[in-house]
Amino acid sequence: KVLITPRSYGMYNEDIDRLWEQAGFETVREIGPLPDDRMRELLSDADALIIGTDKLSEAAIDAASKLKVIAKYGVGIDNIPVGYAESKGIKVFNTPGVNTESVADYTLALILAVARKIPQNHANLVAGRWSKTTGMEVYRKTIGILGFGAIGRAVARRAKGFDMNILAYDPYVSEAVFDELGADKVTFDELIRQSDIVSVHMPLTAETKHLLNENVFRRMKREAIVVNTSRGGVVSEQDLYTALKEGLIRGAGLDVFSEEPVKHSPLFELGNVVLTPHNAAATIEAAQRMTTESTQNILSFFSS
Ligand code: NAD
Repeated sequence: KVLITPRSYGMYNEDIDRLWEQAGFETVREIGPLPDDRMRELLSDADALIIGTDKLSEAAIDAASKLKVIAKYGVGIDNIPVGYAESKGIKVFNTPGVNTESVADYTLALILAVARKIPQNHANLVAGRWSKTTGMEVYRKTIGILGFGAIGRAVARRAKGFDMNILAYDPYVSEAVFDELGADKVTFDELIRQSDIVSVHMPLTAETKHLLNENVFRRMKREAIVVNTSRGGVVSEQDLYTALKEGLIRGAGLDVFSEEPVKHSPLFELGNVVLTPHNAAATIEAAQRMTTESTQNILSFFSS
């Protein structure tokens, strides 16, 4: 018996039910995030779990006496107490890399949306105002990529198509990777001083928390655009507000926030921001990959 909670699981994979049937599984679907008591109830007789963003408690794991495997539908496993699950002999899998290209596409879309004020133009037009905005080209601009992992590199590949000059900062990545992607390996300070566009692709850690703060915004070009599709908290929202309000930088695009969902923020009042609800990974293709890979993780676990 497998409990499946992600909303978009199987939505675009026609054969998925047949796959479970052939493998002799009973599927129980309930769209999450599930409250803890419901999760406990449903897990009480489940052998496997495919989990989305539900917060899995240690108590829920205790209640799951038959549970042998958890497959995260996605990459981040911060909602799962992995160490605790493993101490109970439960194996935990995720689906690395499934949304890299989706997030990279979205990052470029966000950069262009900010540079050309596309959401503001749309809002004006549908409100009956035929008023144009003057934007900034991204062609041949300098993009600074903070964190040169899978998504940072996918952004670099796309930026090349715009003839951008690519700077990247990531002390944990070898020189060869920078060379291969035609990016200049620079220090953090060089990147923020020289970039027209600063794009954040590093995880939230003690080291990266509020890495982009007022002091850093002050060192950026006044025409700079900052976008964050990685994790809220790497950019200080309060300091970003000050920077945008005081014109220290030109504009910003955020897909992630330190507290999600965000209901109110001073940033909502500004005209030079584009804000979206942690949406960068949400594509049909990523959902298909997450469905296939999370299912395979469970089926191969039981067949090995
Ligand atoms: P990744 O692990 O491949 O890359 C992260 C890179 O950051 C690594 O190369 C690492 O060396 C670097 N890094 C870590 N600490 C650093 C530091 N202090 N200074 C400089 N570089 C540092 O991860 P990824 O798949 O490229 O994902 C990047 C981020 O995007 C993650 O935070 C992930 O959670 C986030 N993400 C967001 C969405 C979304 O929906 N918006 C979807 C997927 C991933």
